[in-house]
Amino acid sequence: MPEIEIAHGCANGGEPFIPQVCRIKEIIPETHDVKTFRLTTLDGKRPFDSKPGQFGLLSFISEGECVFVISGFGEDYIQFTVKKVGRVTTRLHQMEVGEQVGVRGPFGNWFPYESCKGMDMLFIAGGIGMPPVRSFAQYCIDHREDYGHIDYVYSASTYADLVCKEDLFENWPKVPDMNVYVSVYHASEESEKKGLTESYTAPFLETLGIEASENRAAVVCGGPSLYRTCSESLKKLGFADDHVVTTLEMRMKCGVGKCGRCNIGSHFICLDGPVFTRAEIAQMYTTA
Ligand SMILES: Cc1cc2nc3c(=O)[nH]c(=O)nc-3n(C[C@H](O)[C@H](O)[C@H](O)COP(=O)(O)OP(=O)(O)OC[C@H]3O[C@@H](n4cnc5c(N)ncnc54)[C@H](O)[C@@H]3O)c2cc1C
Repeated sequence: MPEIEIAHGCANGGEPFIPQVCRIKEIIPETHDVKTFRLTTLDGKRPFDSKPGQFGLLSFISEGECVFVISGFGEDYIQFTVKKVGRVTTRLHQMEVGEQVGVRGPFGNWFPYESCKGMDMLFIAGGIGMPPVRSFAQYCIDHREDYGHIDYVYSASTYADLVCKEDLFENWPKVPDMNVYVSVYHASEESEKKGLTESYTAPFLETLGIEASENRAAVVCGGPSLYRTCSESLKKLGFADDHVVTTLEMRMKCGVGKCGRCNIGSHFICLDGPVFTRAEIAQMYTTA
């Protein structure tokens, strides 16, 4: 059985405590409470290189600092897809193109894009779980010849809450040997027009006829309930725990294993994670 190897205890890049001042190059509205921000350095360069699944911290002197997965990048920018939930994210949503924000990163480990080479990939995301899962899926799409068949399963509460609609409905359906499955928890005229199924993620996943194999990896990210129910479904479908990968969005503050906000037992999620297999998570909780 091909092994999925995940790097743990990764060194953080650059100057870990000193934010780079960056400029907002572009803002892409995704939903009523989610926006994608493309950030570039003041001299127009990409702030840093990163691997799929790594995160950065965005800061404002007046409000503080928050952790977000790097959801994508371009030649001269990195991007974050941010849901407005509280103090810092509300401030970020008020920002306009050209304004400045502090950026630290990249931090954490990354999805096992090397050891998954040659494998079929099943991506499962719910709601704002899209950005991390998208970062890995987009990597596989950009290196299409290195991976087998791709299935992408995504759900959100309503059609209006689906993020990255351009990828879901325009870009990814054109990718060879890739199926995109989208469901909504509550149907509307728009979801029906698009022919979307009304279903929660786990039961939807179970109807798709996707079978486990030694050569297929599953990548899951969403809220705790989605993770629990989809893990049960993946088990029913025959996926081994060491072939199910996720990213833990624990509360974290410093990003460098000092503040002790995100540990499970002796593991600091910001340093050892946030990416783990389900088998590793079970082991962490057993020994915590
Ligand atoms: C590794 C990692 C990656 C993340 N990636 C993303 C991402 O790509 N996009 C995104 O939108 N968010 C992401 N988050 C969550 C994001 O960090 C929080 O939503 C953000 O810190 C909220 O800050 P705030 O000041 O706006 O909210 P606050 O004013 O601090 O809190 C507002 C509300 O949100 C809750 N909250 C705050 N932080 C979290 C958290 N980490 N998890 C769950 N609830 C929280 C609080 O309990 C409170 O109810 C990620 C978190 C981690 C740890």
